[in-house]
Amino acid sequence: MRTARAKRFCEIQAVSAGWLPSSVPPIIVLGTIYLLLFDLRRIMIGMAVAQAEKSAFRSSAPFERRAFPQAAIYCSDGRFADQINQFLHQGLGLDGYDRLAIAGGPACFAGYFEAYREEEGAVSHLRFLSRLHKLGRLILISHEGCGFYSDFLRVSELGLHDRLRNDLSRAARRIREVEAKLRIEGYLARVNGSSVWFEPVAV
Ligand SMILES: [Zn+2]
Repeated sequence: MRTARAKRFCEIQAVSAGWLPSSVPPIIVLGTIYLLLFDLRRIMIGMAVAQAEKSAFRSSAPFERRAFPQAAIYCSDGRFADQINQFLHQGLGLDGYDRLAIAGGPACFAGYFEAYREEEGAVSHLRFLSRLHKLGRLILISHEGCGFYSDFLRVSELGLHDRLRNDLSRAARRIREVEAKLRIEGYLARVNGSSVWFEPVAV
């Protein structure tokens, strides 16, 4: 009863305002009002977003719409983030890349029982990126002083460099089992004083 009354009210309002002839069915009147309200809401949201954008931080880096056909896997340790980014852009000449920044980086793929959950997650992420962005090249980067080895795996510093290199190869083998088409490269990020350099490792 109320709905019928409301429809009739809208019809009367619209007709009396001269929008529509009296022969227009109530459903058309209600539909028109609904669309007008929907448009009004959209306009208000757009204005609010524009206002928020004015006062927000704006990156000076241009946005690239196309996906990059290469990815890098490295440790989430932020101390190496800028150097790795610089290496990938300037050292290897990549214009951009997808990334899997996870604790230990390639070590997650090296077959450690303690890290089997991390490996499952990392494999799943890599498969997803590979399928979505049609990856063809993958760069693996391990680093000296990685807490994943000293804290999570409880590995001593003794012989750690050899282990890091071996693990890059083991990780590459494991990744080829799940994504055979990827061209894989390995690097070990090494610290010398306050600088970081990247040693190529055959994988
Ligand atoms: Zn690390």
